[in-house]
Amino acid sequence: MTTIASVLARGLDTRAAVIGTNVLDQTGPTFAAQFPGARAVIVADGNTWAVAGDAVAQSLAQAGILTDEPIVYPATPTLFADDHTVDDLTARLGATDAVAVSIASGSLNDVTKLSSHRNNRSYLNVCTAASVDGYTSFGAAITVNGVKGTQECPAPRAVIVPLDIMAAAPTRLTATGYGDLIEKIPAGADWIVADELGREHIDDDVWGLVQGPLRDALADPVGLRKGDLTAITKLSEGLIMSGLAMQVMGSSRPASGAGHYFSHQWEMEGLGREWEPPLSHGFKVGLGTVAMCALYEQFLKLDMTRYDIAARLAHWPSPQADEARVRALQSNPVICEASVIASAGKYVTSAHAEAWLHHILDRWGALESRVASQVLLAAVVEDMLRQVGAVHHPAQVGLSLEDLRHTYYQAQTIRTRYTSLDTLQELGLLNTVVDSLFAPGGYWHTRPTPED
Ligand SMILES: [Zn+2]
Repeated sequence: MTTIASVLARGLDTRAAVIGTNVLDQTGPTFAAQFPGARAVIVADGNTWAVAGDAVAQSLAQAGILTDEPIVYPATPTLFADDHTVDDLTARLGATDAVAVSIASGSLNDVTKLSSHRNNRSYLNVCTAASVDGYTSFGAAITVNGVKGTQECPAPRAVIVPLDIMAAAPTRLTATGYGDLIEKIPAGADWIVADELGREHIDDDVWGLVQGPLRDALADPVGLRKGDLTAITKLSEGLIMSGLAMQVMGSSRPASGAGHYFSHQWEMEGLGREWEPPLSHGFKVGLGTVAMCALYEQFLKLDMTRYDIAARLAHWPSPQADEARVRALQSNPVICEASVIASAGKYVTSAHAEAWLHHILDRWGALESRVASQVLLAAVVEDMLRQVGAVHHPAQVGLSLEDLRHTYYQAQTIRTRYTSLDTLQELGLLNTVVDSLFAPGGYWHTRPTPED
């Protein structure tokens, strides 16, 4: 299996990752090696400072690094990664030439990533929880004018990954990282669909970086909940590798499929944003994973030998009709305009529709068997999420089954990236498949409320 060290040697934005127990004292030497002669400024919040602030400051001092007064945001309410926070930190970093050393588990890492980039600097992050794969990915998840999206910026130059500290982090944060990672299972199936249909080929090397360690990283949800160090190590390495794979690929395709789009839709709508702590990315992604695994079960039951291409062509939507469909699904004007553009980017014209449908049917057998060997049953994923302490039912986040049903359709519209939702939409079968999940005997119909 490819090691993290060998991936770092490929000349990515991220050049160093120190992973282990008792490694906070490596912060100073790592900083000195990556930013020779530079000043440092620690960026933390009250929680992360309490966990690692003194040790990081001491390590920087011992390495002879000059430091500014630390920038420490309040512990509560949880720091919100929006344009105001980014503007604040961008200005504070702009007032010094110091390189940021963030001590962060999620939002603060994103804020530091973008604020450093806006000052034409890289930075180093000390990870405090196994909560996200964004530590080693490019791009920052920031809410601008009330709508969350990804802002372009490079990944950190270096990360310190103190496994003992991550094992002692609140279990909620570990469960969040687990939710983010488990989506790589249906995301892999989405990539298989795109590959088999010739829409986006699989890079075997990158595929292996994410999918190679994945099952093992997810194998011990009970141990993760207890803070077992071996389990935390595997989860953390899976998350770090996922971020690095995105850097190698120059895209989030290896780590994000339609299960993530459920989360993106809810994030853009601001679901759970005002909660304390706010509803996390990984909790939403975990729920999206159950949703997509349930969909894949129905996808694999489709009998395409009876599929009627002529009947579908008779109802093939015009570009105007397809746009109207997208607009009807998205009531928020900002999300709506973005979805119209994203959906237009993958719309198949009527001139190409017949050949495209034949192509899907020609490939169906191969596609079906490859997908079947990739996905897990939704009930299995639900169990794993329950065991780790993550969200696994829409009612846990205040959504009704009807809300969830609507999200299946919305998730298909918000990105141009091709997933199985698009195949079903093109085949005219998305309604049939989604309806079956909520009809008597369907996955969601049999689960009106979360089981404990
Ligand atoms: Zn994610």
